[in-house]
Amino acid sequence: MIIDCHTHAYPAEVVARPRAWALEHNEPHWAELVDPTDRTSIQGWSDPDSMLAAMDAADVDRAALLGWYWENESTCRWHNAAMAEWIRHAPDRFIGFAAIHPSADVREQLESSKAMGFSGVGELHLAVQGWDLDSADWQHLTDWCTRENWPINFHVTEAAGIPQPGSVATPLEWFIRIAQRAPDLKIILAHWGGGLPFFTQNPRLRPYLHNVYYDTAASPLLYEPSIFRSVIDLVGAKHVVFGSDYPLRIYPREQTSPDMQRYVHAIHDEAQLSLAETEAVMGENFARLLPPEQHK
Ligand SMILES: [Zn+2]
Repeated sequence: MIIDCHTHAYPAEVVARPRAWALEHNEPHWAELVDPTDRTSIQGWSDPDSMLAAMDAADVDRAALLGWYWENESTCRWHNAAMAEWIRHAPDRFIGFAAIHPSADVREQLESSKAMGFSGVGELHLAVQGWDLDSADWQHLTDWCTRENWPINFHVTEAAGIPQPGSVATPLEWFIRIAQRAPDLKIILAHWGGGLPFFTQNPRLRPYLHNVYYDTAASPLLYEPSIFRSVIDLVGAKHVVFGSDYPLRIYPREQTSPDMQRYVHAIHDEAQLSLAETEAVMGENFARLLPPEQHK
């Protein structure tokens, strides 16, 4: 079983003219990431059928469609409605994670996402979206997700990397604070948690990180394949979840259109994992993190 825990899905109206669409909707950060004016974009696009074909080619059984970290609540709601259509198109293949925005009606956003068939929250960006970890909105979000058994996927920016155009810092202490205050919340930190796995070696921090998981999204853009072995040695295979960031072209020199197969094959060929570790990372771990109605 292979489950891709980190993909994105955008409606056709965006694909046709991403930058113009984003600027009309006051979403400058997304415009800068996916359709920059000063460099070639590595964003790819898909529709439900081309994504299902990419999944079939890579033997990926199911994929989580993550909402984007939009800067406006209205865009979050629009995106959730669009992703809900994809989920209805293939409910056994697509799992929905809702785009949620900090506001007084965060509980209503969550309830309406649940009614539309979603199973988690994310990808959130604490800085770009302006989440305040001391606010009532934040408390409502983490209480609700803990109670409903919904994992939250957070974008984490590499803590000590070469700054990428459009990247916005997400200090690692924020995630430690979240985990300390909500010990039963299932926290998925995207892009290997930006370096947080190193700190599990600190015995004073490790107890707080027991419910923190690290996804592998976009790894080929950032790291050598040896990172799989290194991070699993630091945090254990049960804390790593496979995600691709499809339809991003994570092998930009070789991919003209997005696919999942190349990355899945690279993990099998180059990550140096045992069979049991591979099965845990590629699907078993994420399946366990989903709320009970998604257990199949
Ligand atoms: Zn991300």
